Amino acid sequence: MQQRYVVPGGRRGSVIGDRELDALAQLVTSGTTLSAGGWREAFEDAFSRHTGARHALSVTSGTVALEIAIRLLDLAPGDEVIVTPQTFQASIQPLLDLDVTVRFCDIDPLTLNMDPAALERLITDRTRAVILVHYGGCPADMDAVMALTRPRGITVIEDSAHALGATYHGRRPGALADIATFSFHSTKNITTLGEGGMITLGRDDWAERVRRYRDNAVDGVYVRHGTAPGRPPAALPWMMFADEIYDRACVGIRGAGTNATMSEAAAAVGLAQLDRLDELVDRRRMIARRLDEVVSAFPGARPVRAPEGYGHAYHLYTFLVRDREMREALLRELDARGVEVQLRYFPLHLTPEWNFRGHRPGECPVAEHLWFEQHMNLPCHPGLHDSQVDHLVDALAAGLTAVTGTDANLRGDTAATV
Ligand SMILES: *Cc1c(COP(=O)(O)O)cnc(C)c1O
Repeated sequence: MQQRYVVPGGRRGSVIGDRELDALAQLVTSGTTLSAGGWREAFEDAFSRHTGARHALSVTSGTVALEIAIRLLDLAPGDEVIVTPQTFQASIQPLLDLDVTVRFCDIDPLTLNMDPAALERLITDRTRAVILVHYGGCPADMDAVMALTRPRGITVIEDSAHALGATYHGRRPGALADIATFSFHSTKNITTLGEGGMITLGRDDWAERVRRYRDNAVDGVYVRHGTAPGRPPAALPWMMFADEIYDRACVGIRGAGTNATMSEAAAAVGLAQLDRLDELVDRRRMIARRLDEVVSAFPGARPVRAPEGYGHAYHLYTFLVRDREMREALLRELDARGVEVQLRYFPLHLTPEWNFRGHRPGECPVAEHLWFEQHMNLPCHPGLHDSQVDHLVDALAAGLTAVTGTDANLRGDTAATV
């Protein structure tokens, strides 16, 4: 099929190689279970070691990981949750179902991450949780965020869907707050055959709740040797949930469980991909470095760079231009040169559903200004061939040359003819 774009934004080359194929072959010829077995355990152990988090629990997607993370908070009516507007909708979507007050926190114009100064202004004695993202793979200012939240007993969820492979003063996303979530969707830094997710956390009781919830057990409160109704039939010692049914009493139900089991095939591929993480992220960093060089050479354009002591994982490559006219003109230039641009993300508080919940323009002036005037993303992923990367770099240089050439009086009408 003919592709319109030389450098596609979304459709990617495969990052699945021999190692992943070998792991799959081993699995399907082994005759072992295809659900919740040794590969899942191995992947979770490796993930826990990699992030430094005490527990790593795999699930079927990053969205499900976030649903479960938010469920662990046991939010009640009147509770307040502070969130970033500059993220994918899944970060906060479960809050639409809850009777809680959501406060959108403005972002830092240098990193597009939650701005700790804005966060501090939003904290009240009803604040229960903060949900932030490491935007594009650049870690948020976690020391500042945790200094504001820890003493007040506020739980912080780091949506780390972009940040696998990033570093923060020698530590890694996944162990920088109370709960973290990851996505292994095919666009993310590693993939578990297209869909998958992980929750990392430190608390043993939360880990136990996640294990139960994802395995069709009820998210309830059980006590051992409660009002046991009887004994298991001696002939059926392996009966499913036998200890729960016979040895435990349920004394409270928080909610139903579900099946969010990562398949063995997904876990086998995930383990092989995690082994290759450095190689995959290095490729993103190499592309980003070349784009940064071009962007920095032109007036009116500025890369989004990780602060000192941070390692950027470049799930997204982002830069800012001077104003709306410059952006319009550059988007046209890039499109004409075969580069597909997908802007990430429309500020969530302005989406129809959050609008319906009462949120309005003006809540996050920095996020709004960047998005409507200055925000640019470019393709940056290891599925791009060398020749596509060269094309991208050349197209960006040519586009910026054309656009900044009309620098002095760049207007909407001029831009249209650039
Ligand atoms: C991709 C993504 C998710 C959702 O992950 P899925 O695995 O696609 O469900 C959540 N948050 C952010 C920031 C993402 O980019």
